[in-house]
Amino acid sequence: MACNKNHSKIQDIMESLPADQGGIGRHKCAACAYDQGYKDGQMRKEKIDLEAILNSLEESQAQGQRHKSPHAGYAKGYYDGVVDSYK
Ligand SMILES: [Zn+2]
Repeated sequence: MACNKNHSKIQDIMESLPADQGGIGRHKCAACAYDQGYKDGQMRKEKIDLEAILNSLEESQAQGQRHKSPHAGYAKGYYDGVVDSYK
C-alpha cells in the first residue's frame, strides 16, 4: 500500500533527510517513520523494534519523503519528540 497521508507540514524536515540509496527502507514512507518516531519520542519509549516499525510502514511515492531514509526519519522524529516532551 502506498501512503496517501498529507505530510505537507513536515516537508522541510523531509528535505533534510538523507536519501536511502537502496536498502529495505528505500520505498518506505520516511514521513510516516518521522511521525511514529515523534510519538515514541514524546513518550520517551525505550523498547523500540525498529525493524518491525519500518516493516509496518506504508510505501511512499510522493513529495519530499520519496526515497528518503526512514531510519533517519524515525531517529529525527524521535529526537524532536523527546525535545518537545520537556517543554
Ligand atoms: Zn506517509
